[in-house]
Amino acid sequence: MNLARELDERLPSSVVQALRTVGVIAESLGMTAFVVGGFVRDLLLGTPTLDVDIVAEGDGTKLAQALARQWGGTVTLHERFLTATLHWAMGRWDVATARKERYPQPAALPEVEPATIADDLWRRDFSVNAMAICLSPDRFGELIDPTGGYGDLQKGIIRILHDGSFVDDPTRIFRAVRYEQRFGFRMDAKTLRLLYQARNESWLMRLSRDRIKHELWRTLQERDPTKPLWRLWQWGILRVVAPELRITKARLQWLKQIGEWLRWHQGHFPDEALQREWALLLSLLPTADAVMTFCQRYQLGEWERQSGSALLRALRSRLPKRPSGWVRKFNPLPLEVALALAARRSSVAKESWQRYFLEWRLTRPDITGEALRAHGIEGRAIAVGLQAALAAKLDENADAAEQLRVALRAARCFLRRSGLR
Ligand code: ATP
Repeated sequence: MNLARELDERLPSSVVQALRTVGVIAESLGMTAFVVGGFVRDLLLGTPTLDVDIVAEGDGTKLAQALARQWGGTVTLHERFLTATLHWAMGRWDVATARKERYPQPAALPEVEPATIADDLWRRDFSVNAMAICLSPDRFGELIDPTGGYGDLQKGIIRILHDGSFVDDPTRIFRAVRYEQRFGFRMDAKTLRLLYQARNESWLMRLSRDRIKHELWRTLQERDPTKPLWRLWQWGILRVVAPELRITKARLQWLKQIGEWLRWHQGHFPDEALQREWALLLSLLPTADAVMTFCQRYQLGEWERQSGSALLRALRSRLPKRPSGWVRKFNPLPLEVALALAARRSSVAKESWQRYFLEWRLTRPDITGEALRAHGIEGRAIAVGLQAALAAKLDENADAAEQLRVALRAARCFLRRSGLR
């Protein structure tokens, strides 16, 4: 089967051209190059990604360096795994040496040695991820599918490639659930049986915390994380790796809403970086103890701990009436917490939340501390005055002159009360 037409029709021509160049350069080095994995799967599904994974029969690190010379860009080498990452104008491309793997013990990282493309595909997680497209000039577009991935893709099946797959690498349990739910596929009977077995035998517990966290985070990065999370919960997997998470339909509904608020926010403020995964997870941590335990288990920092407890506190209190109250209450909190709150409470105050994020939280008074200093105000009274000016602007739409009057009154009152005047 040849996929040259699908490549041409479904991808930008610059990407296809670059893939052809990879084939030519590989050949000039005496190698054969392939594009593999999720790229091939998604191309066949008709939802192509630009996440390119190249595998070379030959030294992939040399190929990556040759490509960087051709195109410009930088190469990071991961010699132990015979792979390299090329950062160039089209993003981040992984270039690997076709290899075999051996697991010295379950759940450990594998030992690797160079091999053929077929060997490389057989070591992969599932048949639908184990296809390659040849990039050589005379075979460009040829599908390499030794494990029957194309058939499984058409039938909608997630299938492991050997019986020990989940034991060798229990992260595949999470991966299987993710793909199954993302594509609306199902696991074949044997894959499912072996997944249950690996779970029962608690192979999961042998994974390092970092690897489990990575899987949890990747699950949260799905377009709709509620589906795989529910599955992981139903199958008792979350109970093993994070028993403090509380998964209910209502909480997952909340998580979904947080996702929508995050997307909404991202649409308006694309440059404001947020801890997306953490914002979503907040909906699943029901108590201060749960926050603490989760943070300890996955070595999260003070910021996560504090934001978790801040959310729990804020959930117990009412929404403020005036815009200035919103600013006073929510501006000191991380934006992730405010978005999680919005998601929980938006049915009653959606418009206020939107105005808070778009407008109120970013509003500044039209006067500065200098203006107050010019009237003899000093120290903390300046902050008090500016806060009053902001409130007048937000709540009463006061102009700059009025804001100054209000600010001076508030500052003087503060000084009198604190006995400074
Ligand atoms: P996604 O769309 O989730 O990013 P992907 O298929 O691109 O999917 P990656 O995690 O980027 O997933 O991995 C790239 C490829 O490497 C996979 O398609 C698969 O062939 C292989 N792979 C990744 N993780 C494993 C694993 N744990 N065991 C075996 N093969 C794996």
